[in-house]
Amino acid sequence: MNEKSTVCVVGSINMDLTVSTSVIPNQGETVLGESFATYPGGKGANQAVAAARLGSHVKMVGAVGHDVFGISLKEHLQKEGIDTSSTELIPEQSTGTATIILSNNDNRIIVAPGANRSVTPSYVEKHRAAIEESDIILLQMEIPIETISYVVTIAKELNISVILNPAPYQPLPAAILNQVDYMTPNALEAELFKNDLIDDDLLEKWITTKGEQGSSLYVNGKEVHIPGYPVPVKDTTGAGDTFNGALATQLAQGISIKKAVSFANAAAALSVTEKGAQGGMPTLGEVENFLK
Ligand code: ATP
Repeated sequence: MNEKSTVCVVGSINMDLTVSTSVIPNQGETVLGESFATYPGGKGANQAVAAARLGSHVKMVGAVGHDVFGISLKEHLQKEGIDTSSTELIPEQSTGTATIILSNNDNRIIVAPGANRSVTPSYVEKHRAAIEESDIILLQMEIPIETISYVVTIAKELNISVILNPAPYQPLPAAILNQVDYMTPNALEAELFKNDLIDDDLLEKWITTKGEQGSSLYVNGKEVHIPGYPVPVKDTTGAGDTFNGALATQLAQGISIKKAVSFANAAAALSVTEKGAQGGMPTLGEVENFLK
């Protein structure tokens, strides 16, 4: 890479609040849990961290509340080397949170989007320069759909490629499905989207992630499998986010799609060998060593 390529992430920033308990309370009941921890999260922020560790210059267009979580998350992104000049602390808004109740085999999650709802089309317009200066744009679905539409439209005008990681699933307007350059559902999301597809040609932009098996993409109407890398698994949280951040770094450098997907499989495989969504995200050097 001669010059650093620039990835612009327009997406969510959350604090994950994780409480472990052996008993889940019934209605009206209070129980004593076991432990509590906070972790930086949100699909947007996770993918931004993945891309930054892999050597891209990353701009984060997102919003947090003007509260302790917001201040600490913004600092955290800066420590990862991410440009946060388009990440505002929004007064009177709370930072997005995911409250995760971990109990044996029963995990329950409540997401409160908070300031992520402030990432509106006009917010994006205010930070348009971040998009204009990027080589590729990376989107997920934890911000309003109208914002995704808006970003995709601007990107088309500017001739900048867009990757949309359609998670969590919700039906998308045909205009978005038609205009994005790459869609990266996991196997479950891909199934859900099959019914929404109006045109088989759209499959050519799909890259489906399939857990330990790796990923697949379509070339001339045929599904091509790009194998995963067998690794000892500790925690698969964040595998999809690592995959997307890695894919963006590769495509931003003009690397061919098959090579880019294979590199993203390797980065994502390394991410599952450590605990936590961001905890296991590898650096460029770590992926290069792994692939030697
Ligand atoms: P998550 O929600 O856990 O972050 P996801 O459901 O969005 O993940 P997956 O398809 O499970 O996405 O995983 C994304 C990519 O991560 C896969 O395409 C693969 O390259 C890699 N990966 C996931 N799980 C494993 C595993 N057990 N071993 C090796 N690689 C894995």
